Amino acid sequence: MTFFYKKAKQLIYYDEPVIRPPAEADSLILQATIGCTHNRCTFCITYKQKKYRIREFSEIKAEIDWVSQRAQGIRKVFLGDGDALAMPTDELIRLLAYLREKLPLLKKIAVYASPGNFVSKSVQDLVRLKNAGLTLAYVGFESGDDDTLQHIKKGFSSDQMATLMEKPNEAGLKLSATVILGLAGPAHMKRVAENTARLIDRVQPRFASALTLMLPFGEDSYKKHWPVDWRMPQPAETLTELRYLVNAITADKIIFRANHASNYLPIEGTFQKGKARMLVQIDSALAGQHALRPEFLRGL
Ligand code: SF4
Repeated sequence: MTFFYKKAKQLIYYDEPVIRPPAEADSLILQATIGCTHNRCTFCITYKQKKYRIREFSEIKAEIDWVSQRAQGIRKVFLGDGDALAMPTDELIRLLAYLREKLPLLKKIAVYASPGNFVSKSVQDLVRLKNAGLTLAYVGFESGDDDTLQHIKKGFSSDQMATLMEKPNEAGLKLSATVILGLAGPAHMKRVAENTARLIDRVQPRFASALTLMLPFGEDSYKKHWPVDWRMPQPAETLTELRYLVNAITADKIIFRANHASNYLPIEGTFQKGKARMLVQIDSALAGQHALRPEFLRGL
């Protein structure tokens, strides 16, 4: 379904659903692309109804013009949809340049990215994008466990993702990696969490976030990709997986957040100095000393 954010004649085009990371709550959101180039992850329904396309520059330009005439103070822009980094480098640079020209106080331009976007981008491309104003790419790893990655049809192994992330790291482009608790069910959570920690340690993104699996349209279509004994983890089990993950991360200076609306217990901290505090928070929640977010308040 398509909506327009409309005031008088104005249009910011929003092809719903539009999602953004929690840290982009105060950003201007623009859809540079629609949908996701991969669109095959078994847990992800966000873009299933959308056919991937790059929006015409003239359309986005009109939106930037409109915004710039009314809100010059904008400091943060987030470019959607699922992997706007898939745009050809020169087109994205043109968009970044126009944003910076029209919004002179802009400090941050972030984008969603999928691992596949880094296959076609060279280090030099990423340096050019960074120099043009791209400050952060949110990349969905989902897991560092190869068995899980296969079941969810991510399209890349843990090793392949780690190798691809050497490009943005070399280019100096900041990364925010996202993983999802509960994907493999409760049976293998220790192995999954430790493999995921290993991937985070290897990539050392500036930020890492853990979300919790939600299947708003039921479990059936997700479950069929797993052995028959797969089941949705209980809240305490996802906390246990979170504990394994936090405990196993050894890299330093990563800002870690598990404060997404899908999480039962919002925590955040910086590795390694905040690790002990985060573990204490999880342990007290597991001991029943903290109320968990009720199911009806969870969201994607
Ligand atoms: S790459 Fe991201 S947006 Fe695309 S299907 Fe997978 S989880 Fe969804």
